[in-house]
Amino acid sequence: MSARRILWVAVVLFSALAVAQTTALSKEVQQFVSVTAPKIVLTHVRVIDGTGAPAVDDQNVVIEKGKITAIEKGGDVGESQGTRVLDLRGHTVMPGIVGMHNHLYYVARPNLDSQRHYDQPVLVPEMAFSSPRLYLAGGVTTMRTTGCVEPYTDLNLKQDIDAGKLPGPHMDVTAPYLEGPGSYFIQMMRLTGPEDARQNVDFWADRGATSFKAYMNITRAELKAAIDEAHKRGLKLTGHLCSVTYKEAAELGIDDLEHGFFVNTELDPGKKPDVCSEDQGNATLAQMEPNSAEAKDLIQTLIQYHVAVTSTLPVFEEYGKGLSPVRQQMLDAMMPQAREDYFLARQPRTKPPKIDPALLWKHELGLEYEFAKAGGLLLSGPDPTGAGDVVPGFGDQRGIELLAEAGFTPVEAIRIATLNGAIFLGRDQQIGSIAAGKDADLVVIKGDPSQKIGDVENVEIVFKDGVGYDSQKLLESVRGRYGQY
Ligand SMILES: [Zn+2]
Repeated sequence: MSARRILWVAVVLFSALAVAQTTALSKEVQQFVSVTAPKIVLTHVRVIDGTGAPAVDDQNVVIEKGKITAIEKGGDVGESQGTRVLDLRGHTVMPGIVGMHNHLYYVARPNLDSQRHYDQPVLVPEMAFSSPRLYLAGGVTTMRTTGCVEPYTDLNLKQDIDAGKLPGPHMDVTAPYLEGPGSYFIQMMRLTGPEDARQNVDFWADRGATSFKAYMNITRAELKAAIDEAHKRGLKLTGHLCSVTYKEAAELGIDDLEHGFFVNTELDPGKKPDVCSEDQGNATLAQMEPNSAEAKDLIQTLIQYHVAVTSTLPVFEEYGKGLSPVRQQMLDAMMPQAREDYFLARQPRTKPPKIDPALLWKHELGLEYEFAKAGGLLLSGPDPTGAGDVVPGFGDQRGIELLAEAGFTPVEAIRIATLNGAIFLGRDQQIGSIAAGKDADLVVIKGDPSQKIGDVENVEIVFKDGVGYDSQKLLESVRGRYGQY
């Protein structure tokens, strides 16, 4: 082949790639794109790489065709054909958040009042429009749905996001909850035994679910059947447990436990095998001093069985710590009824709870910290449910702030919300930290969260596969909709 012909082929190939990169995104998605070019250089930016290493000031991060290709000493770079240069002095770049308890639904309590009374049944309406946009706007580039109520919606959303038709993060779609009778939510399945559990795992794995979640009223036999079936297919299973204790689940082979140490029931008075206890774990947590022999034993068991733990501090904050800060942008995202419910649920409690919530909160923070320090894999996700006071994206940022309150340094807290999730998903070769060769899933933040953790809220641009999305534009598109669709 002549040199001229090689050049011609190269030009054709290059333009084909460039075209593919732009036409892959629908008009719907393109309206949120603020940065796209074959080569993008983020100059003079502070890098928090997601490994827990200290932040490094004044770096250049080079992105080419969706991948990070270099991280170098900061310097000026000239714009040229096909290269976009951003001057990011005063900004920080961190890996995209890997959210590990990121539902796509809202919780609706019919006729909620200021005394927290509401009518049955409690519903979880799917937020297929607002949630993916809010997650992406908040810096989440990969998420596990961790239980779903509209499986076909979730599976189709994943497909449409991956195809560039809709905006949103990469998704690990969790199958419908594996739950027995007696659930708090009417939309969940009511398992009839181990064979039913096995069939459900196969049914949803065949249809594209890539993870599973057991719920509060599953029996040990059903859980065991589901875990074994999921593992046969190379898939993982997590649980928000109650009927099964943490140690029992670890021994059965569970991969992850949701809600930190809040829902372990092993020391709850009157706990019967296979039955959810009345305290739903509060009594156990109240007794579990983070440095006690009991706590050390539990932590060692979890580590020995390679069980990860997902911290979901935002969903417990209002209960355990006190009212979370009101963020105007979060209220702006909500539909009027959701905003009203949010404030109703923040009214002072008339009856004090049986177990002191402040004690639970203190033990929870301590146990999460001790678990991670002992070598356990701690993950993070907001669980956007609660009293409607945890909202996608905003909740992910709040989770990082609360991990810092638990004693982690800011860069450690960021690692929990990024690289640790990638490790659990088996995707840490591609995502979760800032390194040459990895996917360009990055969050550009104004300020310095390594010094002031609250700066994680100042998200400006979110890169997913090297395409930069304007966080504000995504938020504006959701204004007044969260809670509706
Ligand atoms: Zn949840």
